[in-house]
Amino acid sequence: MKRAIFPGSFDPITLGHVDIIKRGLTLFDELIVAIGINSAKKYMFSIEERQGFIENTFKEETGIKVMVYEGLTVDFCREVNADFILRGLRNPADFEFEKAIAHTNRDLAPVETVFLLTSAGTSYISSSIVREVIQNNGDYTKLVPPSVRTSK
Ligand code: ADP
Repeated sequence: MKRAIFPGSFDPITLGHVDIIKRGLTLFDELIVAIGINSAKKYMFSIEERQGFIENTFKEETGIKVMVYEGLTVDFCREVNADFILRGLRNPADFEFEKAIAHTNRDLAPVETVFLLTSAGTSYISSSIVREVIQNNGDYTKLVPPSVRTSK
């Protein structure tokens, strides 16, 4: 049984994440979307909202679980028995950043990081851009799955 985690902040989940999750599902038997809590970070959406958005998006999909974790990603992998970390790559900046994290994780635990290149149509989308659009009352609905709705 191949189990992977897809870690991130998902503040909120975007169509870019959805693309990586759907394609990740073709590689792994089970994919745990893992919402990481970083106490130093300020989030736009609460943990419950972020978890609800993801769960509603994939409610028809077996093979996907949504969980919340705190601490090192490799420790969470051990906890849930996952041998793989899935990450998406959008651009060279993502690559440089992800390379350092993947090497560090590999030093810490026998976990493989698997990268999927973003699809052309969603490569420009990021949660921070979505938050910016929401804050300025723009139409964010084309950037996120329908479960993400806000009154903010
Ligand atoms: P983090 O706080 O770890 O950056 P994010 O929620 O922003 O968390 O992203 C989680 C993962 O999703 C990362 O691997 C990121 O590269 C990937 N990702 C984010 N947006 C996109 C996108 N538009 N296309 C593909 N992958 C993406």
